[in-house]
Amino acid sequence: MNRRTRLLVADIAFAAVFILCAVLCVTVFLYQSDAKIHQQNKDFLSLAERDTAHINHGIGLLMDQVDAILQNTLNSAAAAPLTTDTLQRALNDAPFLISISLIDPQGNVVASTKAENIGHPVNLGSTPVLPLPSGDLLRIGPTHAGNDLADGIPLTDNTQRTPERGFIPITRTRLPESRGQDISLVATVGLKYLLNKVIQEPGVSPETRIAVLRTDGLRLLDTQPADSGLLQFERTIIDNWQKGSPAESGEFETIDAKHWLATYLLHPQLPLGVVLAIDSEILKNTLSPSIQRDNMTISFLMIVGMACVLFAYLFFRYAGRHQRERLLKIESQRNLLEKTLNACANAIVITRKDSTIEWCNPAFTTLAGYTTAEAIGKRPGFLTKSGKHDATFYSYLWQTILSGQVWRGEIVNRRKDGSLYNERLTISPVFDNQGDIQHFIATKEDFSEQKAAVDKLEVAHSHLNAVVENFPGSIIMEDTQGDIVLINQNIFDLLGLPGTDEYVLGKPIQKLMEFSSHVAENAQAFLKRIDELRAAARPFYGEEIHFKDGRWVERDFVPIRLHGNLLGFLYIYRDISQRKRHARELWQLATSDPLTGIPNRRAFFESFEHERARLTRYPGEAALLMVDIDHFKQINDTHGHGAGDAMLCHIVRQIRKLLRGSDTLARLGGEEFAILLPQANKEGALLLAERVRKVIEDTPLIYNDADIYVTASVGVAIMSHNDPNIDKTLSRADHALYKAKHSGRNRVEFE
Ligand code: GH3
Ligand code: MG
Ligand code: MG
Repeated sequence: MNRRTRLLVADIAFAAVFILCAVLCVTVFLYQSDAKIHQQNKDFLSLAERDTAHINHGIGLLMDQVDAILQNTLNSAAAAPLTTDTLQRALNDAPFLISISLIDPQGNVVASTKAENIGHPVNLGSTPVLPLPSGDLLRIGPTHAGNDLADGIPLTDNTQRTPERGFIPITRTRLPESRGQDISLVATVGLKYLLNKVIQEPGVSPETRIAVLRTDGLRLLDTQPADSGLLQFERTIIDNWQKGSPAESGEFETIDAKHWLATYLLHPQLPLGVVLAIDSEILKNTLSPSIQRDNMTISFLMIVGMACVLFAYLFFRYAGRHQRERLLKIESQRNLLEKTLNACANAIVITRKDSTIEWCNPAFTTLAGYTTAEAIGKRPGFLTKSGKHDATFYSYLWQTILSGQVWRGEIVNRRKDGSLYNERLTISPVFDNQGDIQHFIATKEDFSEQKAAVDKLEVAHSHLNAVVENFPGSIIMEDTQGDIVLINQNIFDLLGLPGTDEYVLGKPIQKLMEFSSHVAENAQAFLKRIDELRAAARPFYGEEIHFKDGRWVERDFVPIRLHGNLLGFLYIYRDISQRKRHARELWQLATSDPLTGIPNRRAFFESFEHERARLTRYPGEAALLMVDIDHFKQINDTHGHGAGDAMLCHIVRQIRKLLRGSDTLARLGGEEFAILLPQANKEGALLLAERVRKVIEDTPLIYNDADIYVTASVGVAIMSHNDPNIDKTLSRADHALYKAKHSGRNRVEFE
């Protein structure tokens, strides 16, 4: 049975019970109401019986009084004839009588307290005759309402201001046998008096009908007009009286289907009785206000009670549905939470405050190797403690979490199979509503593999650091943001910077460069070049930088890329001052003459070739002078080889004095020299050649206190841009020199 069906069944059951209760309540109410009505009827009848007896008794007394007055009056008639005055006196003593009249045997009024009646006949035929012990006859007549006792005379009341409602005539007749004369006195008993003084208001409901009936069925008095049903009922009463059943009390149904609560009682002496009756419906409708109030209160309470029950059911139904929905939501959230925690790749362990495991997810069982059943109720420390941490470690951990803080750290733990693993552990306290720690939740991540990789990386990193530090050069690398990511100590030494790499790692390289650029011979150019290199982003090797202090530094610029992505730029600086010096020395060795220091043959030919090339681009002329010392062998022979060497140096000094900066003097070999004069024409060349010859001739070498004189022969040739190569020019200069030698030496020749 699903929830919807259960609800429907509950609704139907409730509706059935509700309706049953409602019916029960109404039934009880009606029963209660009936019981009250019954009780009220009973009370009514009991009161009515009392009232009936009381009225009967009252009427009896009244009749006795009337009869006594009539008897006294009749008795007085024996002494003197009855006159209106006599009657009036009798009337004055009887406030319950309206009039007293004397009637003759023919039935005519002969004297009366009411003069208008005199002479009018009074019909007493229909009145029952009650023989009295005195021998008189007593008649209690029918009610006269509206008309006077005498026929045709409207009833008026002269004595009282309120109209008379009617009267009952009471006649006492003295039969002739007893007194010799048949006379009758008729007294009219006022209904108003009867009602107000004798009957009065009955103790029962004012709606009660009161009737005074004669035993022959004549109605002497009735407080309400009679309908056919009641007339039939009265006939029944009369029958009962005639059958000797004087009194009865109860509920009677009349032919018109009305129910009457009635009580009747026959007077023990008089031929009349009293009937009290009330329509049971009227009685019911005129329930006492307290009963009505009670009924209304009960009805109201019943309705309110039923409404409360209905409302309570609907409320609990709604609340139940709401609660159920809330529970379902909580359940679904709990399921989601559990599924999520179960699906979590990280191990999760929930422990109680005493650290015993309450819940763990599959990732934990996989990680630690224990089944859930093995883990629950145990302490994580008991299961996975590796012994790799000292007591202080655990003590700090407990101190942290028991103080309500989160503990994060790395820990080495042991699996069930004994193997170790590295775990990244976070333990958070879980608080209850009062803020007390209730549980701990631990999330565990096995990072053994990462740790191994990190360890490897750290080794690689330390290797890299060692390489960088031991690198025979200064290294600095910037990332694409321009921050320094790699640097070694050498660069601080190279740039003469204080501090170590720690101070500059991660800082902008530009600052370091700007700060240290002053060491370069041209700081601006240095910085500009770095900008260019960065912009070009391609390797440049071996760029030389001259420092102000004379050092030469070589720079390799290497953009570093990984999988095609630029990571940054690597700068490698090497101090090449020594290498530069060696190179220069080697060059000098290769290109200069060791004795005189001037360019050697090879260097000269290079300069010569260079000049020829220049002339090809910029047409013009250059002069070549070939100088050969005359009879030099003799110097050696005469003064020694040292003197020869000194002479060679001496000659070089003399010639140099004559030359311009752009001119080149070289020793081609032995005692033979060459002079290259760029942009010189024949005249200029010959002039200089002559001056060279002359200075050699005129300037002796002072050697060991001796003046040693030599001469020289000079061959001059002009090189033009038309010369295909230097050999032609050389050849012409050689010929000129040859000519000078053969022409007697110490002279200048041109070719
Ligand atoms: P000529 O006038 O024909 O040129 O006669 P010469 O002696 O100068 O010519 P020769 O070529 O025969 O001799 C050159 C001499 O120069 C031979 C050699 O002893 C000398 N000589 C060459 N090189 C050096 C040197 O480096 N030092 C000295 N002291 N002598 C040198
Ligand atoms: Mg020579
Ligand atoms: Mg020579």
